[in-house]
Amino acid sequence: MNCPNCGMPVDDGAVFCKTCGRPTNISTPPVTVSRLYPKAERKPVTLTADERCTAILLAAVAAVLTAALLAVLVSTGCFGLF
Ligand SMILES: [Zn+2]
Repeated sequence: MNCPNCGMPVDDGAVFCKTCGRPTNISTPPVTVSRLYPKAERKPVTLTADERCTAILLAAVAAVLTAALLAVLVSTGCFGLF
């Protein structure tokens, strides 16, 4: 198959193009996308790093809040343990 970014041949099953280094799993060439949607903002395919960071941050905040809530509940005897 050929690289969707630069058009150079890449090995079947290769994740990245050896010539330009772009991922080979881009289904649509950027030229076609910009031609079909001229005003659409071209988003990079590898945007998931930000989303992953946001998810990790949210999970961490939720974990801290849960731990703090549990600590407050236990220390005030709301569970009837003391
Ligand atoms: Zn390439």
